[in-house]
Amino acid sequence: MRPSILDPLFAPLPSLPGLGEKSAAILKRLLGAEARVVDLLFHLPSGMVDRRLRPKLSEAPIGPTVTLHLDIHEHRGPPRGRSRAPYRINAGDETGELSLVFFGSQAAYIARQAPEGSKRWVSGRLELYDGMLQMVHPERILDEEGFRKLPPVEPTYPLVEGVTQGMVSRAMRSALERLPVLPEWQDSAVVAKHDWPPFTRALKSVHAPREPADTAPDAPARLRLGYDELLANQIALGLVRRRIRRESGRASAGDGRLVARLEEALPFRLTASQERATGEIRGDLARPQRMLRLLQGDVGSGKTVVALLGMASVIEAGRQAALMAPTEILARQHMKTIAPLAEAAGIKVALLTGREKGRERTAILQGVASGETDILVGTHALYQEGVAFRDLAFAVVDEQHRFGVQQRLALAAKGEAVDILVMTATPIPRTLVLTYFGDMDISALHEKPAGRQPIDTRVISADRMDEVVEGLRRALAAGSRVYWVCPLVNESENSDLAAAEDRARALESVFPGKVALVHGQMKGSERDAAMARFKDGEAAILVATTVIEVGVDVPEANVIVIEHAERFGLSQLHQLRGRVGRGTAKSSCVLLYKPPLGETALSRLRILRETEDGFRIAEEDLRLRGEGEVLGVRQSGLPSFRLADVETHPDLLETARKEAVMILDRDPDLTGPRSEALRLLLYLFERDAAAQLLRAG
Ligand code: ADP
Ligand code: MG
Repeated sequence: MRPSILDPLFAPLPSLPGLGEKSAAILKRLLGAEARVVDLLFHLPSGMVDRRLRPKLSEAPIGPTVTLHLDIHEHRGPPRGRSRAPYRINAGDETGELSLVFFGSQAAYIARQAPEGSKRWVSGRLELYDGMLQMVHPERILDEEGFRKLPPVEPTYPLVEGVTQGMVSRAMRSALERLPVLPEWQDSAVVAKHDWPPFTRALKSVHAPREPADTAPDAPARLRLGYDELLANQIALGLVRRRIRRESGRASAGDGRLVARLEEALPFRLTASQERATGEIRGDLARPQRMLRLLQGDVGSGKTVVALLGMASVIEAGRQAALMAPTEILARQHMKTIAPLAEAAGIKVALLTGREKGRERTAILQGVASGETDILVGTHALYQEGVAFRDLAFAVVDEQHRFGVQQRLALAAKGEAVDILVMTATPIPRTLVLTYFGDMDISALHEKPAGRQPIDTRVISADRMDEVVEGLRRALAAGSRVYWVCPLVNESENSDLAAAEDRARALESVFPGKVALVHGQMKGSERDAAMARFKDGEAAILVATTVIEVGVDVPEANVIVIEHAERFGLSQLHQLRGRVGRGTAKSSCVLLYKPPLGETALSRLRILRETEDGFRIAEEDLRLRGEGEVLGVRQSGLPSFRLADVETHPDLLETARKEAVMILDRDPDLTGPRSEALRLLLYLFERDAAAQLLRAG
């Protein structure tokens, strides 16, 4: 249960004094339908207006915001019949004159806030027009009382349509007044070292700044708030992690007999990093603790084989393994890599997707339930009801960020203390691994299997389509197999499909009988047929929407053309490019962009020309596009931060991680002197589930 001292923060928005149901309803557009006071308080300003400059008119600068004390002289509405002309007010002080200018239908109404003969404080930016000083649409027109309330530095907030700065500011003032004073959860030495204000004061200083510097992204108050959130996150991850570790796993130590047979059956030698990763995974499996490991490796780095060698370990121990992929195509791909090797080693593999039905499905499920099947490969069909293993010990989840954490746990629940290996082809930068997975163990495949040639990558304007098609003609004559990728153009699947169909038709008219098309709305059997035509070489060009993104393996394909490359993330382009360069033939990648494209966007694409190192590309992507995009956070439901800015302050994340480890090492159940406050911190950032683990433990 959340400690009651936090109740005012978790009360619904309309409960704020002075904030009516109506304003609350409007604010919810910005803060979400379920918005609570805390959501408002955690809505941080994106900038500020400095209103401390209060000069006489003769000394007032052009450009920056000034606040002037003016005598209001004459009002001059637009002349009859020229309603488009502005409404003007002449005003001035003892040093000069200016004109306040209002456009639009509200002009007369607004101008009435400054009646003739009154004295007003007017805040806004000055400009020169025809040699005359003027201020267009003053931001504030205040009488003496209003002026007394004018904050010298005014935070500005990110908004959505229909919500004004004024609404947010008013509600914020009310929320700040209700802030409870909370005990300090941070270590006093850390606080002192960085000169951080306490939590409550930090929030006040960010929302009601005294100095412009108070709102800067690296202001002590901002850093403190970010650090609070990161520490809560890292402690929560640590608690969950320790719980999994403490929950005894099972040692699945094999005798190495199947692994040896598999290695013998491999038509190639493992790379050094494959060897290392395999060793790490088998080591984990043999230990009685539960395994939670991330296997990172670029497209084509050979993760599947590594996973298979791990699976062989648990099979040697008489248990079963599962491999779950996010799409049917990928599941089949894995099946194809695994099946011949498994057969050579005497391991029984079955495939289960949504497509196996009736008697076939029953037979598969029986094999799994009896234990006759050693490895079950499939899609999300794997964790559905009706699938029962005799003894599942090891679950491998491919391309994990497409699955929710729930699905991963659902699969793990099919066995007892199941060891988990998550495979990802997105080389997630280390900072993000820490953020989202905590101190999950990591194995990385850094090198590509031997014999692969570098991919010749070019960035070309779509204006030069004719040349590209000519190039294709030459490549096809030389026996090339070509992927042509049409990206998701719109939100709507139909228009994406139309674009792909158009492209396929256009190519078909140049290369009759040589074009196959696959897209997400095809029936499985149609898609397989099209893929098969491409694999067999009957169709030399495969036009595809991004369905091939995550892992189709046609070693003969050595050209990939990507349309609208500017719409993809770098990591995504890198993954697409990885579809070629898998065989020994020389490969090329053409990134087509739609002009005009800015220099920044172009140089972004050119990074791909320079490097094939997925980790470097991911770091660039992170820098350029933000963490959400890299990980596909939106699809995965991974948490994102509200107060912390991981990109700007990666060092804070690292510090928080270390401190969380230290705290939990010293006080694993949070019962020590700082623990009350730390529990508050967990609830404040809604790590309730982790906090409840404590209670239960
Ligand atoms: P990933 O899943 O990492 O994208 P895969 O496991 O699908 O990569 O491997 C890609 C291809 O490379 C497969 O055809 C696989 O058989 C092959 N492969 C894997 N390891 C090696 C290796 N050490 N040497 C040569 N080829 C390999
Ligand atoms: Mg793969």
